[in-house]
Amino acid sequence: MTKSELKQRVYEAIDRRAEQIVSIGEQIRKNPELGFKEVKTARLVEETFGKLGLSTRSGLAMTGVRADAVGRAGDGPTFALLGELDALVVAGHPVADAQTGAAHACGHNAQVAALTGAAMGLVDAKAFDHLAGRVVFFAVPAEEYGDIEWRVSQARAGKLEFLGGKPELLRLGHFDDVDLSMMIHMTSRPEDGKAGVPGSNNGCIVKTIRYMGKAAHAGGAPHMGINALYAAQIGLAAINAVRETFRDEDTIRVHPIITHGGSQVNVIPGDVRIETYVRGRTVEAILEAERKVDRAFRAGALALGAKVEIETLPGYMPMRGDATMAGHFHETMKALVGDENYRRIGHRTGSTDMGDLSQVMPILHPYMGGARGTGHAADFEVVDPQLAYVGPAKALAAMAIDMLADGARGAREVVSKAKPPMTRESYLTFQRSLARRELFEGG
Ligand SMILES: [Zn+2]
Ligand SMILES: [Zn+2]
Repeated sequence: MTKSELKQRVYEAIDRRAEQIVSIGEQIRKNPELGFKEVKTARLVEETFGKLGLSTRSGLAMTGVRADAVGRAGDGPTFALLGELDALVVAGHPVADAQTGAAHACGHNAQVAALTGAAMGLVDAKAFDHLAGRVVFFAVPAEEYGDIEWRVSQARAGKLEFLGGKPELLRLGHFDDVDLSMMIHMTSRPEDGKAGVPGSNNGCIVKTIRYMGKAAHAGGAPHMGINALYAAQIGLAAINAVRETFRDEDTIRVHPIITHGGSQVNVIPGDVRIETYVRGRTVEAILEAERKVDRAFRAGALALGAKVEIETLPGYMPMRGDATMAGHFHETMKALVGDENYRRIGHRTGSTDMGDLSQVMPILHPYMGGARGTGHAADFEVVDPQLAYVGPAKALAAMAIDMLADGARGAREVVSKAKPPMTRESYLTFQRSLARRELFEGG
């Protein structure tokens, strides 16, 4: 059987499952869960894989679910197809969880629909009779780097080391036997077309900042206090002042939020907390920018005579997609959405932990449409379920065929050409080297 005949069979199998695939995407959309807490979503994935006869392992980095399917046409590389399980907190989102505020405003529900749909298509069409090597279907936790206080508490309790899903899975060795991987992210941006592949993504590091002043009666004795909120404001203003030193080509993004601004209005704030990322195109640019950001935060403490504690956490590495894999994806997209709807996307200034995987193996992180509104905002919504849920299921399955048919020629070519910049050990060493805590006393 030729590759294109096999793809056709798998597409037909996926079309027969289309209703079920859409319903999985919708069920997850209506039950959003935050990272490392995706319990219901993980259970749905596990049940769906189980019904396909795939043996699964669950609870990986807390909530990850992995199923392996071995090709019966010989040995070859292991290709992981990924789907992210998590949602994020977006104020005012109409389909947010009432308790947690979590909402699928990044479209990760579609990733899981596509992942399970690809598994259905490949299994139903008996594609593994014609594939070499192995496909890993991997539902991964916690791509959105938020809910940081809770995650830090889990880390202190020894339940996590890294606060993002893929870094934690890398640490635990769940990618040790994987040679190459991909996922497909939904996009609502009209300029991305119906499908496209970005050249690169920013990386980031993450900081939590705590200003410690002195509480006092805000009316009766403000002179007895040290106002941690004003110290924080000066720190934030100082960051804004150093922005003009960031070079355009480094695409630095610093976007702090105050997560605790005071205890009650008639008390001078003695404890104020901030979280921020420092994002950039290269590790060097991120490290240079974060040095300035730390200096700015110290300035706030110095001005008020407060203390500031700056905790720096490893974030996500800059991402580079594999050009050979992108070429295969483009060919598939010509058939699935038409070449006129395919875009070469340039550098993106968001960050993703696919960047971490891209440091140690060839990866692909394309986008497909089907949504409108603004990513991470209350108006983000799925408008074309066929394109959002079923399209990427076909695309993932087609990539599995491109990589692993004909004795896994495609995957062998990718692996032999790729030169990932880090080993898994050097990646872990580097990430660990970023973690530090500094206490600066301004008075
Ligand atoms: Zn997101
Ligand atoms: Zn996302």
